[in-house]
Formats: sequence, structure tokens, C-alpha cells
Amino acid sequence: MKRYQTQIHRCFRCGYCKFPTDYSALNCPSYNRFRFDTYSTGGRLWLTYAWLKGDIPWSEHLAEILYACTTCKNCVEQCPMKFAPEIVDWIIEARSDMVEQGKIPLRVKRFLESVYNYGNPLKKTNKERLPWIKSLKKYEKGTEYLLYLGCLASYDEGTKDMVTSLVKMLDKAGISYGVMGDDEQCCGNEVYAMGEMDLFKELAGKNIDKFRQLGVKSVITICPHGYNIMKNQYQGMGYKFEVLHYSQALAKIADDMKPKKTGNGVKITYHDPCYLGRHNKLYETPRKALKGLELVEMPRNRKDAFCCGGGSGNFITDYLAGGNDSPARVRVREAAATGAGVLAVACPGCLLMLKEAVKTEDLDEKLQVMDIASVMGR
Ligand code: SF4
Ligand code: SF4
Repeated sequence: MKRYQTQIHRCFRCGYCKFPTDYSALNCPSYNRFRFDTYSTGGRLWLTYAWLKGDIPWSEHLAEILYACTTCKNCVEQCPMKFAPEIVDWIIEARSDMVEQGKIPLRVKRFLESVYNYGNPLKKTNKERLPWIKSLKKYEKGTEYLLYLGCLASYDEGTKDMVTSLVKMLDKAGISYGVMGDDEQCCGNEVYAMGEMDLFKELAGKNIDKFRQLGVKSVITICPHGYNIMKNQYQGMGYKFEVLHYSQALAKIADDMKPKKTGNGVKITYHDPCYLGRHNKLYETPRKALKGLELVEMPRNRKDAFCCGGGSGNFITDYLAGGNDSPARVRVREAAATGAGVLAVACPGCLLMLKEAVKTEDLDEKLQVMDIASVMGR
């Protein structure tokens, strides 16, 4: 981290990174939640700088501020400085320093311990994989795609419709796929974002070894976080393979899909997940997968999308929860204001976060949160 020390102080706290392109709202989810500069990008960088210089001591609270960043990359998109593309890397490096010194907040520690002990952050054993997952075909040599489910789709009941709709559509399109079953480990994206690089290498190494053993050439991921880490980190770890997010697979077969009845409205609004959008620039592909439906955009869309608050393990550590300004609640209010009856997502984390927020906001009658496979599948 110290190698960035000379650059961090060049952040002059102009605050552009707090906003979307048109400055119409607050777009850094942690700043929006707490409204203290310490929780903005600039504040976080200056705190880190002060800690690196020894001007302030480490404290649980300092570490929590660092981990309340969802790595959504709004700041990377908006900061006018040349160093902008590196901001999130600096935050991850600072976390890595804290991990190495054993100075991490309790909830992060629990998250990492769970991944280390169980192979997933949900403290679930292999036996607890969901029943419909167990009935899916196992990947065998020669199968076209490995369908990599990820932790939420493997263990959280709330993703059932997403997974079952997706596999139905892949079957209908004649795409051959198989899952890893009990051999699947956490992809490590959140572990990487939390700065636990040794654990990340162990997880990635195990997954890559298995891919190699099975002769996997192409992977379809359900979660954008898995897509991100496999596309941007696994590829440099000695085994090359193609990675598709499931929205890309669906966009390829969009011509053959017909939307199923969505229940309480035909207008759809789409929420760009940070790890699909800003991290990997996949903005139009998921929209293409929603072919034939009336799309109405939220004011904050594509590179200006507002994060649901779940990234970088916050789905579980939940440092941004509570109150009117928690990101998921802000986002569902924005979605409902478009008049859409369906808020479509392309990430199991966003799906679960936003579903919960719809209940909290008492918007159940107006707005249904569905992933794009559930919207399009029959
Ligand atoms: S990170 Fe960039 S945009 Fe944000 S306060 Fe610093 S210089 Fe300004
Ligand atoms: S990555 Fe997102 S949450 Fe983190 S500082 Fe930047 S805008 Fe805020």
C-alpha cells in the first residue's frame, strides 16, 4: 500500500466522485448512507493516508469505514484525475495491509473465516446445497459450458426462480452445460475485494485445478462477481478459458425467447449491477436479453447506476444497512418512481438485496424484483 502513498495525497477532495455525471444525486452509496465526508471516496483516501503516515492509529471504526466501500466504482467513473482507474485498487490494497496486520473488523473476520472453513460465506455445508441444484446435470468432459452457480445461487432459496428459469432456457436453446456440484468453491471475488489475497489465491487455485481436470473451455457464471473475478484475475493464473455472464448467454438466444407474464405490470426498469456494468462495461447486453419488453430507464442508469449496497461482501457484512438512506431502499424508490411494475436485475446479490428493500419500503404491490432469466423464461 505504501507505494500509493505519494499518489493518494493528490486527491484534493473536490468531491466529484460523490455524484453521477449530471450531479443530480449522491452516487457513492456509503456517502449517501452516512452523509459524513469520511465515508466518501476522498474522505476514505485521506483517512488511509493519515493511517499510513502514522498520524492516526488503527481502530475498528477506521477499518469499518474502509470496508463500508462497496467497490462500486462510481468514483473511478467520475474522478477527473489521472489516477482515477486505480482508486478502488488503493482501497483494496489498504484492506490488504489491514488483513496482513490482523487488523480487520469483526464482521469481515467472520465472513473470511466462513469462506475458509466452509468454502462459502454463508456457513453452509455441501449437504445444504438447494434441492433443485442437486438435480442439475454434472459437468462432464466435452460438455460445452460449465455453469458456475456461485454461493448465493447454490444456497439461498430466494434465487430459485432465477436458476430454474435460466436452466430451462438453456435447455430449450439446446445449449449443453453442467455444474460442478460439491466441487464448486466460492469464486473469491469478495475475498479479493476484502484484501485477503492468500485466501483468494487458494480458492481460485482450487477452482482452476478443477477446471483443468475437467477440461473446461467455457464457463457461464450466474453472478457478475464470479464473472468479474474469472475474467480479470483467473485468466492470469495459468489456465485460459472463456467466461460468459448468463446475460450474455441469454442475449445470444434472445430471438427465441418470449417474456412470461410478469404479474403486476409490463413496463420494466433495469438495474445495472456494478460488477457487470462499471467493472466490465456490460450495459447493453442484459438490456438486449430483455428483448420485446417495454424498458423504462431510471434516472441513474448504466455508468451512473446507483449501487444496491451489496458489493465487496456488504451483502453479508451489511455496513450500509439501516435507515431510509440504505442503498437498496434508495434504489427501489427510484425504480418505483419510473412507474415500472418490474425491477429487472442480473445478479443474485442485487436480487436478494432489492427484494428485501421492496418489502421494507412497502412497495410489494407496485414493484416486483425479478432477474432477467425469470422475466424472459417460460
Ligand atoms: S477521488 Fe478524485 S473526485 Fe474524489 S475527491 Fe479525490 S480527486 Fe476529487
Ligand atoms: S467504490 Fe463506490 S462505495 Fe467505494 S468509495 Fe467509490 S463510489 Fe464510494
